[in-house]
Amino acid sequence: MDNKLIKEMKGKDEIRRFYQFPLRGSEKVDMKGKSYYMIIQKLDEYGKPIQHRVKYPKTNIREKQCGNCGKTVGIEYFYTDSYNVSGYSHWCKVCCKKYMTQYTKEKKEEKMKEGKEFNDYKSSKEVENLINNDYNTFLSLIEGKE
Ligand SMILES: [Zn+2]
Repeated sequence: MDNKLIKEMKGKDEIRRFYQFPLRGSEKVDMKGKSYYMIIQKLDEYGKPIQHRVKYPKTNIREKQCGNCGKTVGIEYFYTDSYNVSGYSHWCKVCCKKYMTQYTKEKKEEKMKEGKEFNDYKSSKEVENLINNDYNTFLSLIEGKE
């Protein structure tokens, strides 16, 4: 069922959106005998929506067990991951890098077999940058592999 946006009201520092059905964080309002669910999006001084970024869960863990190699190491050896309950990636950095290097190698061989140029991840440096800068892209690569 689609939750239709009924009405949008833009103010100086907020946008009010009214929906047909309840949403997370919505407020029920009655207008002309009908009930709507209102979401208020606050705007900053430039009129841009203020994003409420999901903060990493506050955990006091100092160590974590890697889901791949099974080693328990300090959390500095894990990537932060807002999608993970613990706030850290499931695999340690070493495993992530190892996997990515292997993945790249396989991809390269695959492409070479096909007789195509391999342009995606030319060097391990690029792979490293990818993991460091864009952990989610890396995750989608792993997930997309199966
Ligand atoms: Zn590991």
